[in-house]
Amino acid sequence: MEEKPRIGVYVCQCGSNIAGTVDTEAVRAFAETLPGVILARSPRYTCSDDGQTDIMADIEEKGLNRVVVAACSPRMHEPTFRRTLEAAGLNPYYFEMANIREHASWVHEPGEAMNRKAKDLVAAAVYRVACHRELFPRQSPVTPAVLIVGGGIAGIQAALDVADTGYQVYLVERDPSIGGHMAQLDKTFPTLDCST
Ligand SMILES: Cc1cc2nc3c(=O)[nH]c(=O)nc-3n(C[C@H](O)[C@H](O)[C@H](O)COP(=O)(O)OP(=O)(O)OC[C@H]3O[C@@H](n4cnc5c(N)ncnc54)[C@H](O)[C@@H]3O)c2cc1C
Repeated sequence: MEEKPRIGVYVCQCGSNIAGTVDTEAVRAFAETLPGVILARSPRYTCSDDGQTDIMADIEEKGLNRVVVAACSPRMHEPTFRRTLEAAGLNPYYFEMANIREHASWVHEPGEAMNRKAKDLVAAAVYRVACHRELFPRQSPVTPAVLIVGGGIAGIQAALDVADTGYQVYLVERDPSIGGHMAQLDKTFPTLDCST
């Protein structure tokens, strides 16, 4: 049996990037009411050294076993916070990010609708992280080659591009010759060049 979720939620202010438009205190207070949430905080910069140290301290002192950070894009800081969890002894995949910057504060007019969206994003992340299981990365050998199905102009161009990067390419065409539709045309729009 997995442990019961003990979730910490961090609603990042991101300076004024988020707090300038989203009511981060209201979102924080809402997060506190969600099932499994043990604590909810609203740090100024969650990704800062201090912000990460506070998360690690909460993991240790409050026994958190899941973490949600509502901040920016996971493309930017998901690896950062996974490392934070790992440093605190938690499996790094017990983490979920809600993007309330690009998906709320940066794209909507300030107001109740935007705050509601930020709350919905946080709620979704909380419900999701509660279902997370431990994951362990592993490495498998791969064949460093590419198979492209279809020798039309798209397949031919893709094969050339991939080959230029140095990988072995296998181009498979079901017809007796490559070229696809383009090979059947005499002149092509807009240049009226011969297509072959
Ligand atoms: C009548 C007509 C006029 C057009 N005029 C112009 C024009 O003037 N200017 C312009 O820019 N574009 C024009 N186009 C569009 C242009 O021809 C297509 O956008 C282009 O050919 C698409 O290339 P493709 O490689 O994506 O697909 P395709 O040319 O359809 O190539 C797909 C290839 O994949 C192969 N294939 C499919 N399934 C498999 C499989 N399971 N296994 C192996 N091989 C498979 C097919 O045999 C084919 O060779 C025209 C298209 C048509 C039909």
